[in-house]
Amino acid sequence: MGLLAGKVALITGATRGIGRAIALKYAQEGADVAFTYLSSASAAEELTNELEALGVKAVGYRSDASSYEEAHTLVGEVQKTFGKIDILVHNAGITRDTLLMRMSEEMWDAVINTNLKSAFNITHAVAPVMARQRGGSIIYMSSVVGIGGNAGQANYSASKAGLIALSKSVAKEFGARGVRANCIAPGFIQTDMTAVLSDEIRASFVENISLRRAGTPEDVAGVALFLGSDLAGYVTGQTIACCGGMKG
Ligand code: NAP
Repeated sequence: MGLLAGKVALITGATRGIGRAIALKYAQEGADVAFTYLSSASAAEELTNELEALGVKAVGYRSDASSYEEAHTLVGEVQKTFGKIDILVHNAGITRDTLLMRMSEEMWDAVINTNLKSAFNITHAVAPVMARQRGGSIIYMSSVVGIGGNAGQANYSASKAGLIALSKSVAKEFGARGVRANCIAPGFIQTDMTAVLSDEIRASFVENISLRRAGTPEDVAGVALFLGSDLAGYVTGQTIACCGGMKG
């Protein structure tokens, strides 16, 4: 039996990269998977087929994470279709990188709305469901830059730091109902998000990583599996870095 047999997971932003790897890992471990995306409809269809081929129930929803209304509609639909929600992985995120003095208000707002306000939206909708169930695991996808900051990523770093404080607050508010809340802080992971970086920047990142390699989406999915499973039943309010020992 898989580590997540009988569980239902909702994953935001699962059509690519880390979210996709988590969806597949969860399905391999027996979870039914509801997931969201913004624009990649054909990738969503492909993923649904892959998940179903693993023998689980899977549905992809187009739902803009930055919209409070869409998050609440989504959770209502997932409940109707799947009956419950045991694990929430809030993974959807974007970057709009530049130095602070060149950053427009639009760049700030887009990142804060998609990465951080979205976490309020989905938590507000899912936490009461988990509280009624008397159990659940919420996982927010933060980042090592949410701990250490990063030049050229003031908006992104602030959004990821916000997720860490949010997870600790949710852990305290909902712990008595058996709901756990934790963050994963990935380092440099090979996905579309980091594919835009030059070879030079990429090499300089790797030099600063103890394990001397970039991470893979599957590396992060392993941590998400632990936090989503009952193996982490006494773990809440924590941030686990998945960064290969990246130097700060
Ligand atoms: P990615 O390859 O760019 O994929 C992003 C995913 O989020 C896609 O499925 C995308 O859907 C979805 N998404 C974006 N905006 C959305 C919205 N408004 N509503 C719903 N879904 C939305 O990113 P990734 O590298 O896998 O990163 C996943 C998460 O890990 C992000 O939160 C990121 O900040 C975090 N992270 C990544 C790294 C890294 O090195 N890659 C490091 C630290 C943290 P569409 O395909 O429809 O656009």
